[in-house]
Amino acid sequence: MTTPVLQDQVALVTGASSGIGAAVAVALAAAGAKVGVNYARSSKGAEAVVDEIKTAGGEAIAIQADVSKEDQVLSMFEQIYQAYGTIDILVNNAGLQQDSSFTEMTLEQWNNVIDVNLTGQFLCAREAAKEFIRRGVVPQKSCSAGKIICMSSVHEVIPWAGHCNYAASKGGVMLLMKSMGQELASHKIRVNSIGPGAIKTPINQDAWNTPEAEADLLNLIPYNRVGVPMDIGKAAVWLASDQSEYVHGTTLFVDGGMTLYPGFATGG
Ligand code: NAD
Repeated sequence: MTTPVLQDQVALVTGASSGIGAAVAVALAAAGAKVGVNYARSSKGAEAVVDEIKTAGGEAIAIQADVSKEDQVLSMFEQIYQAYGTIDILVNNAGLQQDSSFTEMTLEQWNNVIDVNLTGQFLCAREAAKEFIRRGVVPQKSCSAGKIICMSSVHEVIPWAGHCNYAASKGGVMLLMKSMGQELASHKIRVNSIGPGAIKTPINQDAWNTPEAEADLLNLIPYNRVGVPMDIGKAAVWLASDQSEYVHGTTLFVDGGMTLYPGFATGG
């Protein structure tokens, strides 16, 4: 029998009570990791994810924290250390949209999105990096001292009218990830992003929950299928494992080709 690729490693997935985060938590656990399933407010979704993991023979705990609040992030990491002693993998997944035309966008909408999508990633990555540096490489577990995976978006490179706050947050995540990668590589910490395309989750239901909306969306996806959360879960397992040891400071787009400028397939 082969050893699961994340055997004995501890992972924390933020915003893991639904959508992509839930699938990533389940996939990491199936690959052998013990998983902290973070949720912002209601524990219901997170408890369901923990139950699913435990039913499959894995190990997980639900942890409440608003990732945009420093004191709550510190307490979340304390809870992970109390439960599992350390951390090996951080998946910075929590995110939200608050859409508006540019001229109507309020400062509150701008701040809410930047606080969660960008500042939240900074706060969690900083705490994880401190522990990775303190503990160093444990060769029995992984060649790296730790792995940080930032959930970005195709909108780190594709501008998005009506969503300036969101696109700015993901563009920020791209250079946060690369700058952390540059600074932390000497500690054998790997930092990468996943850039999902359109994935069927609660965040973007309006874009796929009617046949007309889905047909419209498919015009943007050369591979002609809307993504599902486990497409991202599988990519996260690979990026967190030593299978991708030499992959560092890059965004893996998992988007059915959405970043290929599909309009140019027939025009231009
Ligand atoms: P989702 O709404 O199901 O998941 C977002 C999660 O983040 C939710 O569980 C939510 O409770 C949590 N969250 C929000 N604010 C939080 C906070 N302050 N603290 C902790 N958790 C918080 O949507 P999703 O599509 O699964 O989104 C997950 C990530 O994937 C986001 O970063 C999103 O930007 C990114 N993404 C999604 C798509 C897509 O098509 N679904 C595409 C590109 C990128």
